[in-house]
This record gives sequence, structure tokens and C-alpha cells, in this order.
Amino acid sequence: MASTQPLTLSFSALDRSDPKVANLIRQEYERQSTTLELIPSENLASPAVLEALGTLLTNKYAEGYPGRRYYGGCEVMDQIETLAQERAKELFGAEYVNVQPHAGSQANAAIYQAVCKPGDRVMGMDLAAGGHLTHGSPANFSGKLYQIHPYGVNRETELVDYEQLQRQAEEVRPRMLMAGYSAYPRRLDFARLRQIADSVDAVLVTDMAHFAGLVAGDAHPSPVPDSHIVTTTTQKTLRGAWGGMILAAGAEWQKPLDSALFPGTQGGPLMHAIAAKAVCFGEALKPEFKQYAKAVVDNAQALARRLQERGLRLTTGGTDNHLMLIDLRPLGLKGRSVVEIADRAGITLNANSIPYDEASKFNPSGVRLGTPNITTRGMGEAQVVEVADCVVDLLEALSEEKGPASLAAVRERTLDLCRRFPLPYGFE
Ligand SMILES: *Cc1c(COP(=O)(O)O)cnc(C)c1O
Repeated sequence: MASTQPLTLSFSALDRSDPKVANLIRQEYERQSTTLELIPSENLASPAVLEALGTLLTNKYAEGYPGRRYYGGCEVMDQIETLAQERAKELFGAEYVNVQPHAGSQANAAIYQAVCKPGDRVMGMDLAAGGHLTHGSPANFSGKLYQIHPYGVNRETELVDYEQLQRQAEEVRPRMLMAGYSAYPRRLDFARLRQIADSVDAVLVTDMAHFAGLVAGDAHPSPVPDSHIVTTTTQKTLRGAWGGMILAAGAEWQKPLDSALFPGTQGGPLMHAIAAKAVCFGEALKPEFKQYAKAVVDNAQALARRLQERGLRLTTGGTDNHLMLIDLRPLGLKGRSVVEIADRAGITLNANSIPYDEASKFNPSGVRLGTPNITTRGMGEAQVVEVADCVVDLLEALSEEKGPASLAAVRERTLDLCRRFPLPYGFE
């Protein structure tokens, strides 16, 4: 791809000692600058978050928790971790928080260890219905160590069917009910999920990895009051650096959760990442973040509306969070070719199974898109309509074989949007 922006990303030490890596980072900067990122799990961490992350905090071992470390020299580490904890508690109205999970999957690994014994029955949303690998996929530790009884969505509505879920829970009597998703375009009824869990004495764990930022910004109901335990990532809608976190409204689970995380499943905490989490939570506590979270949802609805106006079918008929799934079956297309042509036109999305998909999960019948990243770039509803038009034009180019001419035209429009809404890093 031709260079479109001057690359003045300066690395004083890295350029001298390892220009190869420095230049690869520049290449990735160039790619992110010149493409529209519609993968709903991706976002743009702020310059402040990136600065906290790239620091000498990575030099320090701090196994244990604030005030209870196994290493000397942790006075500053204690303050950083406590600050991150206090901000997270305020942000989510939680009494318990653990900010040490390296990522979302590690948070979930600790939950299984704290709540279940190997072989216990667990109900989690099926990957094909929008669940996450760690909710019981046979390819994941969760599916190998525990007896998983997956639940799906209703074939007609493509929504979680709570009556069916209640019946299944009564039959299975799981130790743990996992709620949350990676590819479900609707809100969940947390109070109803808690009722179901309580009726069979199960522990309700809600994994809000995808929608935590919407919760933080008051653009989505919080799962914290109704769940026994909540897990999340910090890099998705919450817009921090890569990381995980565990929360709970009360402190009952503190001991088993803390010890399941360390020493149960992790070693030393990534203190540079915890500092970045503190910065991320500080940003999310500001009033501007509420505007951001609302704009993410408004933009998703505008995107969904336009895609549907232009004749596409979205699963469940739309979205009320930050993501949506296009059903490619009416167009006779599959996910992989769509992702590939979109890449060539400067739009990044991902192929995804849709409910009751008969195609292989390696080349499924859906694509998933979302608005967290382009909203961080400052795009509003007018731009989102342009983005939707680009996506539909690409799909039409593929299904009608209009070919390279329309591809080039879409590329020009995506590049123009990227230039008008640059990354928030000010390197240009
Ligand atoms: C993304 C995600 C995770 C895992 O996060 P990683 O940081 O990639 O380990 C866990 N649960 C859900 C629901 C997710 O969407």
C-alpha cells in the first residue's frame, strides 16, 4: 500500500538499537491509520494509556496483592494497584475487584478454578450462538476440564430464550451459569439470568468483556448488581490496553477469587499493564466517556439501520449494543471472501458464525462488525452511513461480480474517511 501519511513516529532508543522492530511498528501504525476498523472487539487506547504501558514498571516483580507481596520494593506497586482497584470499584459500583488478570481469558480461567471443581457441570453460551471460547468450547481448557452444557438462541428470534434456558438449567443443575458473549447483538436480561441461576443454586458469572465500556459509560445496564461475579477485558469497548479484570458487587468471593488468580493460574502481575488500567479507568470516569459510550451505541444503530435500508439481513433484526452480524446467506456469500475483499478496500471486519449456521466455522455465513473503534476516531452518524454504504457496495461487487472498478472506488472513500478522522495519536 502506498504511504499516505508522513511517518514521524519517533523512537529514540528503538530506532538506534532495533530499526527492524521500529519499522514494523510504523508499518502497523500506517495500516491502522489508513483502514476502517470495524472489528467490534478492537478499539484505540489513548496516548496516555500507551505511555503508562511502555514504562519501567515492567521491570518489577510484585507477586501477591497490595500490602501482601512476596517481594521487596513494592511500595509504589501497591499504590498503583490500589489506585486501579479504587477507580474500578467506583466505575462499576463493585465492592470487590481484582485487576491482575493478564487478559479476559485469564480472568475466566481463575473463575472456573474458584467456583468449580474439574468435571463440574457448567452452562455457557454456545460459540456458534455468540459465546466465547472460554465459555466451554471443546477446543478450550473450559471445555476439556468441565462438563459443559451449552445453550443457544431461539431459531426464530435468534435471541436468548429465557424460558428454554430455565428448563435446561433445571435439567442440568449446573454449578455455574456463564452469561456474556462475543457475538450477540442484543442486551441480556441480567435479573432474569440471576433468577434462573438462583432457582438451581448455580453461581451466575457474567462476562462483560465486550460491553464493559458501555456499562462504564451508562449506555448499557450493569450486570454487577445481579451477578455473583463479573469478568471483563479492558481493551474492547472500555478502550484501555490489553487486560482482564474480575469484579463483584459484594466481597463474599474475594478469597477464592484472589487465590485462584494468584497463585492458582498466574504468576507475577503485569504492573505496567495495571498502571495502564488505572489510566483507562480514570478516563472512563470522566464525563466525556459517557458521551463516547452513547455515541458507540447510536453509531451502531445508525450502521444497522443503513445496512438494512440497503437490503441486508442482520441477525435479530438489528442491534442494541455496539455490534451486529450480517447474514450473508441471502447474498450467496461466505464470510472469508467478504473479509478478504473488505481488507483490499480498507475495511477490517471478521467472519463469524451466525445462529444455526450450516457453513463451517472456518468459512461461516456471517460477518461481524461494530463501532467502538471508528467512534473513538470521532466518526458520527453521517460517517457511519458512508461506512455502511462502503460495506454494501463491496458485498454487491462480490455477489454481482462488478469487480475491481467498484473496489477501487470504495478504497478511495475509506481512505478519505481515514484522512478526515485520523488516529488519536497526533504523530502526523
Ligand atoms: C474477548 C473476550 C474474552 C477474552 O479476552 P482475551 O483478552 O482475548 O483473552 C473473554 N470473554 C469474552 C466474552 C470475550 O469477548
